[in-house]
Amino acid sequence: MRLFSFFNNWLLKLILQDQYCILCATQTKNQQICHDCNTSLGYQTPSPNTCWRCLAHKSPAQLICDNCHDNQFHFERIITAFNYEFPLEQILHQLKYHGKIEYTNLLSQLFWSRISQQIQSLPDVIIPVPLHVNKLKIRGFNQSYELLHEFKQLNSKTLIIDAKRIKNTKSQANLSRDARMHNIKDAFVINDNLQGKYVVIIDDVVTTGSTVSELSRICKLQGADKVEVWCLMRAL
Ligand SMILES: [Zn+2]
Ligand SMILES: [Zn+2]
Repeated sequence: MRLFSFFNNWLLKLILQDQYCILCATQTKNQQICHDCNTSLGYQTPSPNTCWRCLAHKSPAQLICDNCHDNQFHFERIITAFNYEFPLEQILHQLKYHGKIEYTNLLSQLFWSRISQQIQSLPDVIIPVPLHVNKLKIRGFNQSYELLHEFKQLNSKTLIIDAKRIKNTKSQANLSRDARMHNIKDAFVINDNLQGKYVVIIDDVVTTGSTVSELSRICKLQGADKVEVWCLMRAL
């Protein structure tokens, strides 16, 4: 807790001064985060111990993890920019729950810098995980949509489509896997035709994968050929 408030105060003080890294206070050239902090951010590279499909831990003898074996995920695979850990999870928390909208550019830049190293091609369509309109009113923005900031400036060919969240679902945080699946079922609507399209779903944090799997299911119902999930952080 003390570390948390220390970190908060530090961020508050430094965010106003763009020429200093918001994580370590080193002077930078107009970057919010310095090169050393950027390279030290946690990212779990794929290995024989990670599931190629959902990035969960598995034994080297298994082809896919138990999770993928037991659950019929509707996406092809998950690609993550970072692991869900300090300090990025705190920065995201500040953005989502304390209205620190000034962190969106940083998170978007970090997101695309790491994702672009892991992909071979760009999708036809991008769909950020939508928030229910009630939640959107309270928060004022959708963090998954905000992650697209950098991408929109670089690529004009990929279509960005809005899905609708018609169920104001309970927080998934304290629910079991089965309860999460039940909670999120039929929560999304997509009106666009996705016939034959390569679709990417953007989410800030993927935990069990039930939300993005349900949205992937709707994409497939609309005709999508292939659905991938690109997230800022993968919580395992
Ligand atoms: Zn730094
Ligand atoms: Zn898996």
